[in-house]
This record gives sequence, C-alpha cells and structure tokens, in this order.
Amino acid sequence: MSTRIILNPKGARADMLREWVQLYQHVFLDRQERILNVRYPGTEKKVVTIAELRNKKAANATPDEIAWIRVTIPEADLQRVNAYIGCLGCGKRTHLALGTRFPCISCKKSDATAVHKVTFKFEAIDASGTMSFTTFNDDTEKLFRKTAVEIWEMKTTGNFDAFKAVQEVLSTKPFFIQVTPTLELARNSVLL
Ligand SMILES: [Zn+2]
Repeated sequence: MSTRIILNPKGARADMLREWVQLYQHVFLDRQERILNVRYPGTEKKVVTIAELRNKKAANATPDEIAWIRVTIPEADLQRVNAYIGCLGCGKRTHLALGTRFPCISCKKSDATAVHKVTFKFEAIDASGTMSFTTFNDDTEKLFRKTAVEIWEMKTTGNFDAFKAVQEVLSTKPFFIQVTPTLELARNSVLL
C-alpha cells in the first residue's frame, strides 16, 4: 500500500477543511502566544489562587486577562502521560515514522517533521483548591525537567523508578501555571 499526498486538494471536503482552518486560526495563534509567554514571562506577574480564578470565571471576567497560579501536583500519574509521534509544529499525531518530513494538514506547514511528542494530564493544587490541566510538549519537558525523547522513553518502557523522581519534584516544588479564566484547559503554560 502506498500513500499519495495531495498538496492542493479540491472538492467540498477540502473546502470544508480550509474553512475550518480559517475559523480556528485563533487556536494556532493562541498556541504561539502561549509559547512566547512561557519563554518571556512578564516581569509583573499577577498571581491568583485557584479559588479566586473560579470565582472570577463565575463573575464573567474578561477572557483575555492573564494570571498565574502557584501550584504543586500531589499525585502525578505516569498513566496520564501520552507519548506519541506527531508534527513538530502543531503536535498533531501521525502514523509516519520518526524523522519523516511531510506536509501537515493541521498547521499547513509544507515541510513538517515527525517527532516525539508528550502530553501530560494532571490535577494541580494550591491551598485553595484543585484544577485540571494538560501540558503539551514544551511545558511537559519543563515540568519533568527532561527532554521529550527522555519522557517518551520513560513512558514507553514503563520506567516507574525514573518517574518516581519526577513525582517527588512535582509534589514538593511549587511552580507557576499561566491561566486565563475562560480557557483553563486549552490555554495554560508552565513556568518553573
Ligand atoms: Zn502540524
């Protein structure tokens, strides 16, 4: 079986996809912004508690307001680490072999590369409450203090001893997560 890649597809389905990409442009922009915010955090960081964040959400705070929470992860779980091969740019899963270059229909990069990707779901806590998060590659690397390749290997070999060291740090050393009141799951970033 061979795969043929059509670079500029025609027809209703292709048009629908193009429309979707147009419509969801902000998702990609959000992601860029998220990455920039992690790398270059503002000097005046507004730290709130999880409880305050929830209250503000209830009170319809401006969606663009950016705040940080200071949290730990009491029970990090290796089961909730997802390791896969995906697009270097957007993280979209692919069945192509590692290192393959391909045109990614998700982020529209014509020269994307298939690389190790790791996501992590967890419950973060502070003194006021609990909140669920998912981190993507860069942030997962920061949290674990390991590269995506190392995390990928730890997960796929089920190396619980290595994970124990990660757990220890996450449960004892507080870190910052950037949050927006309306999009807590879709848009967060980590600062250690
Ligand atoms: Zn992509």
